[in-house]
Amino acid sequence: MGRTYVKGLKCRLCGRAYPKEPNNFCPEDFGPLEVDYDYDAIRADFNLEAVRDRPRTMWRYRELLPIDGDPTVGQLVGGTPLVFAPRLARELGLENVFIKNDAVNFPTLSFKDRVVSVALSKAKEFGFDVVGCASTGNLANSVAANSAAAGLTAYILIPANLELAKVLGTQVYGAHVVAIDGTYDEVNRLCTQIAFKFGWGFVNINLRAYYAEGSKSLGYEVAEDLGWDVPDHIVVPMAGGSLICKVEKAFRELRELGILPHDRVPKIHGAQPAGCNPIVRAVQEGTDVIRPIRHPRTIAKSLAIGDPADGYFAQAVIRESGGWAEDPTDEEIVDAIRLLAETEGIFAETAGGVTLAATKRLVQSGRIKRDETVVICITGNGLKTQDALLPAIERPAVIRASLDEFTRLLESHEQHETAETPLAR
Ligand SMILES: *Cc1c(COP(=O)(O)O)cnc(C)c1O
Ligand SMILES: [Zn+2]
Repeated sequence: MGRTYVKGLKCRLCGRAYPKEPNNFCPEDFGPLEVDYDYDAIRADFNLEAVRDRPRTMWRYRELLPIDGDPTVGQLVGGTPLVFAPRLARELGLENVFIKNDAVNFPTLSFKDRVVSVALSKAKEFGFDVVGCASTGNLANSVAANSAAAGLTAYILIPANLELAKVLGTQVYGAHVVAIDGTYDEVNRLCTQIAFKFGWGFVNINLRAYYAEGSKSLGYEVAEDLGWDVPDHIVVPMAGGSLICKVEKAFRELRELGILPHDRVPKIHGAQPAGCNPIVRAVQEGTDVIRPIRHPRTIAKSLAIGDPADGYFAQAVIRESGGWAEDPTDEEIVDAIRLLAETEGIFAETAGGVTLAATKRLVQSGRIKRDETVVICITGNGLKTQDALLPAIERPAVIRASLDEFTRLLESHEQHETAETPLAR
């Protein structure tokens, strides 16, 4: 532990090298920067025997994450379950379905804890005392909680229309929360100005190259839990399009390190809500030009990024893997949240509904076949987006504490149930 495998940063467009600094774009062509590793050094130190004995957190893949010392923030993040889901599989008409359940990530119940633990560990290495983010909700929760535990001051900017649970679940940690009357893209632009004016460490702006690498740990965990293999298909929700790129990168790195066989390459599918679908639209129209959505309108607020920073790269990853992209409606999203809950006992947030509903469409169109293995990435927790379900779920019947009343209620249910079974939706 403690040694670095990072050579520096490099431009994802022109490949030019830059030093290890809080910087996110190439001044030559404004291309985004990416962490550049010394894979020969990694190959010498990273092997499966060493990994097997380490704690089940994202840091068991430490050599492939971009920090120089030991992690100082979010040491317990990751290690979420890969759940075999036979009851869901049957409903989908499939045989082998797994849920990667990041709805139970520690500490803030979304996959964002993975990116934040890397970004804030890096912020400490760089000597930032003040950190921040532009967020659609989950990132706000995670930056607030992890900053609190690390003793960092956090400024968090969000669109004013976020779910109550996500706003409250940010303020409770003592973060400075500023709600902006505008879209996420407007919030993000303001944060870029703030980061450079005040010299703060914004996890998804000037620390973005490091932040994004944290998402790879989800891919490593899926591969390890499948016995160092990959599924035939993986379905990934997209907001800025970073996670889906890093899932692909994780599998590619494991192939290049000789840990995964070279001929095992999964089809990577992307999911966005119909009301904010710029990457899906590009994939479906066969273009690499991402046309921003100016006014996103969807219950899946965590995915409502109209101008996705990694949209170009995300559509390329999807296309090159042989995958596809789907954009379910709000109604399909709610139905999918209920389907996952009723079949597997997993309560996903709206983004999870998007991912499962997209999977359903991929099965219906024949892109995913019955005997193929599918991993569905559930990235956030349903307790944070209850607002979206309120119109869909009836309030429970209220009776007095009387056995007679209970019996009558039961009889009336039995009459209903012959007409309608819970899974008939
Ligand atoms: C942020 C987020 C995503 C996707 O993020 P990218 O910007 O595409 O990396 C997916 N699901 C949830 C719940 C999120 O909060
Ligand atoms: Zn460049």
